[in-house]
Amino acid sequence: MKLLEFEAKEIFRAHGIPIPNGVVINSPDELRDTLDGFTDDVVVKSQVDVGGRGKAGGIIITKKADAVIAAEHLFSFPIKGLIPKAILVEEKLSIDHEYYVSITIDRSTREPVILFAETGGVDIEETAKTNPHALRRGGFSPLLTEVPGYVMREILGTAPKELGPVINNLYKAFCASDALLAEINPLVTTPRGVFAADAKLIVDDNALGRQGITANRDLTPREREAEENGFSYVELDGSIGVIGNGAGLTMSTLDLIKHYNGKAANFLDVGGGAGRERVMKAVRLVAGMPEVKVIVVNLLGGITRCDEVAKGIIDAGVEQRVITRLAGTNEEEGKALLAKNGYQMLDTMEDVVRQAVKEAAA
Ligand code: GDP
Ligand code: MN
Repeated sequence: MKLLEFEAKEIFRAHGIPIPNGVVINSPDELRDTLDGFTDDVVVKSQVDVGGRGKAGGIIITKKADAVIAAEHLFSFPIKGLIPKAILVEEKLSIDHEYYVSITIDRSTREPVILFAETGGVDIEETAKTNPHALRRGGFSPLLTEVPGYVMREILGTAPKELGPVINNLYKAFCASDALLAEINPLVTTPRGVFAADAKLIVDDNALGRQGITANRDLTPREREAEENGFSYVELDGSIGVIGNGAGLTMSTLDLIKHYNGKAANFLDVGGGAGRERVMKAVRLVAGMPEVKVIVVNLLGGITRCDEVAKGIIDAGVEQRVITRLAGTNEEEGKALLAKNGYQMLDTMEDVVRQAVKEAAA
């Protein structure tokens, strides 16, 4: 999960990285009360988690007197479609030079790796493309709790030595927050010392619980609902909704859809022992994606009873057509229930998929 700049900065600050003085506001009015704390010019920063925010107009450097107007503007100014819920207002730094530093894990060597550039700032992507050597790279053993001196010397080159402790602290913040990425761009030198002028932190989704994060904000509402219900759920870009039980059956249903030139909109694996209530939730969830025109339910009943599944489908009562294939325990009862309520149940996987592809194309 991506953290917002101000959240990442709080964590960086807790690990000893110098952060400019600032306040986080949720409305322009809140700024009126806190503006007295600033002595000079300020930087007003939209808190949205998109790259290239500065270039998109999300960062305004202004006189203190105009800060509220700038905040009012940013609160209603979408950046790549996103409106900020919060704005960070910081003292303007007087920047001598902008550097780039990030820490990630190299998946092939399974080591932390630091990327550093002496020319940081908003054009770093461009630099990486046109002059890849400008990005220096240093990996080291994940067993180390500090960046080893030889790595630090290699990546810093002739850059000021005072950046070293900041990078070392960034590595500590990276480890402590179970991060996949910790980035400071720009890391700046000023007459008052080194500061992280921007901050980015992506926490590993598998560590959210350990980090005390209860909800993954990066999930869509449907993905979150699926997670809460213990469904495996993925959204794609077709128009057929797919429900299966077990990863194998769900995947082969998807393969078959592709085989018959159809496109799945999403797929959901209800898992083992899907009862009436769970099936109802699954059908409603899959149907809730506006792109879904028809739904394929392909379930094997072992512990799962087909009559229960049928009741769940009927309970869901969704608008879209639901075409079902159920095999196993109480299959006949399930089939009779569905038929009585106007739902189609076919005998084989091929049949349901062919039918669904036909209806989705219609
Ligand atoms: P991003 O576009 O989302 O990466 O936003 P940043 O926070 O990195 O800011 C973009 C650029 O704004 C930086 O590279 C700086 O050049 C400039 N900037 C940000 N904060 C300050 C500041 O306090 N003082 C000055 N002079 N420039 C700043
Ligand atoms: Mn930046």
